[in-house]
Amino acid sequence: MALTGDQRLHPDTLAVVAGRGERAAGGPLNVPVSFASAYHPGGDATYARDDNPTWSAFEEALGGLEGGAAVAFASGMGAVTAVMELLPAGAVVVAPRDAYTGTRWYFEGAVARGRLEVRLVDITDTAAVVAGAQGASLVWLESPTNPLMGIADIATICESVRAGGAAVAVDNTFATPLLQRPLDLGADYVVHSATKFIAGHSDLLAGAVVTADSDRWEDLRVQRTVLGAVLGPMEAYLALRGLRTLPVRLARAQATAGLLAERLADHPAVTRVRYPGLPGDPGHAVAAKQMSGFGAMLSIEVADADAAERICAATNVIVHTTSLGGVETTMERRRRHAREDYTPDGLIRVSVGCEHPEDLWADLDRALAAA
Ligand SMILES: *Cc1c(COP(=O)(O)O)cnc(C)c1O
Repeated sequence: MALTGDQRLHPDTLAVVAGRGERAAGGPLNVPVSFASAYHPGGDATYARDDNPTWSAFEEALGGLEGGAAVAFASGMGAVTAVMELLPAGAVVVAPRDAYTGTRWYFEGAVARGRLEVRLVDITDTAAVVAGAQGASLVWLESPTNPLMGIADIATICESVRAGGAAVAVDNTFATPLLQRPLDLGADYVVHSATKFIAGHSDLLAGAVVTADSDRWEDLRVQRTVLGAVLGPMEAYLALRGLRTLPVRLARAQATAGLLAERLADHPAVTRVRYPGLPGDPGHAVAAKQMSGFGAMLSIEVADADAAERICAATNVIVHTTSLGGVETTMERRRRHAREDYTPDGLIRVSVGCEHPEDLWADLDRALAAA
C-alpha cells in the first residue's frame, strides 16, 4: 500500500512536493502524462485499467494530504459507487437526507433494486445518526453537506458507531483535506469529487477514495479495475496540477467567503445565510471543532424561486452555472434540479473563487437589487 508523503511537512508543502518521483538526472520535474493501455512485462503495471503512473502521482499527493492511501476514479460518483459496491447485498446504509444529489440518486436505484437498505437521517442530529446505525454496515457522512451546509459531528459519530461494526465514509469534497481530515477523526473512508476544489479549474472530472487500511485499499483498487471507472491520464495530470495550488486558492477563496457571508447576512434581500463560519450558524461549534477553516462554499436564501432566478441572471462577474470549487465564483438556484426537492425554493448555492473580494461583493450587491 502506497502510504506516502512525509507527514512532518506542512500540508501546503506536501501539496507541492508529494508525488514527484525520482530526481533523475535530466528527468522531468513533473510526472509525465502516461498515455498507454498496456505496459512492458517485468514491472508492477500490466494493463491500464489496473495501474497508471500519472494516477499514482496524483494518489500519492492526495493520500499524503489525507493521511492515508488514495485510489483515483474517473469522477466523484465513480468513487462513491466503488465504496457502495464493497457492501454485501441487502446491507443497511445510513446517509444524510440532504446528501449530494448524485449520491441520493444512486441510493434510490439501489433501494429500488433491493441492493441496499438506506436510512436517511438528519446528519446534524448525532443521536439520530447513531440510532440509525444499529445493524448498519456503513454510515455515509457528508460534511458540510451540498448545498444545505449541514455539519456532521464526525468524531462523535465514528466513536459511537464503531462498537456496532459500521464503517464510516465521509464525502470531504467541500472541506478538502486542508480543512478537514476525516481519517484522523476516526473515519474509514474519505471520498472526494476532485472535480471541485482539488482540480479547481472547472475543466475535468475526477474522484478519489482515501483509506488508511491496506485491505480496504486493495479492495478499492480491485473495484476500480472491475467496474472500470478509471481516470484518464490527462485528467490525472491536470488534477495533480490543480492540487499543487489548492492551498493558495483555498486560502484566498475562504477568506473571501467569510467576508461575503458576513455582508450577505446583513443584506435586506437575504433571509438566511448558511455558512459554518458565521457564529450564529447551527453548525458553527462542531465545524470549529473539526475543521481548520470554514471553506469557500456558502448558501443564501432569498424570498422565493423567482427572486433567486432573477439574482442569478443579474451577475456579471459571477457565473451562473452548476458545479463548484473552481477559480471562478459560481452560483446556482439548486431547486432548479427536480431531484433536489429537499432544498428551499429560494436557495442559491455560492462557490467562492479567487477574484478580488470587492468585485465579487459589488457584483452580488448589484444582483441582489434584482430580487
Ligand atoms: C460533485 C460532487 C460529487 C460527485 O462528483 P463528480 O465528480 O461530479 O462525479 C460528490 N459529492 C459532492 C459533495 C459533490 O459536490
